[in-house]
Amino acid sequence: MENRLIECVGIGTDIHRLQSGGPLRLGGVEIPFDQGLLGHSDGDVVLHAVTDAILGAVGLPDIGERFPDSDARYRGADSGALLSEVVADVGSRGWAVVNVDVVVHAERPKLSAHKGAIRGRVAALLGLPADRVSIKAKTNEGLDAVGRGEAIGCTCVVGLCRSPDRK
Ligand SMILES: [Zn+2]
Repeated sequence: MENRLIECVGIGTDIHRLQSGGPLRLGGVEIPFDQGLLGHSDGDVVLHAVTDAILGAVGLPDIGERFPDSDARYRGADSGALLSEVVADVGSRGWAVVNVDVVVHAERPKLSAHKGAIRGRVAALLGLPADRVSIKAKTNEGLDAVGRGEAIGCTCVVGLCRSPDRK
């Protein structure tokens, strides 16, 4: 991938409560665990944070405004499809994602074995090579809701550039 100048950055955060029974979906990847994330959509905190960061970078309304949980269309929605819609929308406005740096906050399960798959899936959704996507996982040292294993959170930053065909 050619080097492109980042013109704007966005930050995204999200947290969802864990409930018994899977599946657990993080970054579009199903992870074996006895709990899943509660949410109006599929509860994928990683894809929600990434989607919100992209929307924020270009000054569009946030994910909650765009895909309101009062709207039955988004019940059980595939968060990958929502992210793809946003990537296409910002693309039509002349923006392209350059990179994304993701931190998943989870006490359990251990994510080291799944980071590669999440990276590949997020990269595919964004149309990026895998080396422009970073997935890091941190525990919360036993502190707060994440540390007690009641929730999984995500923080991420994205960089965007003007699309090469829309200078
Ligand atoms: Zn969410």
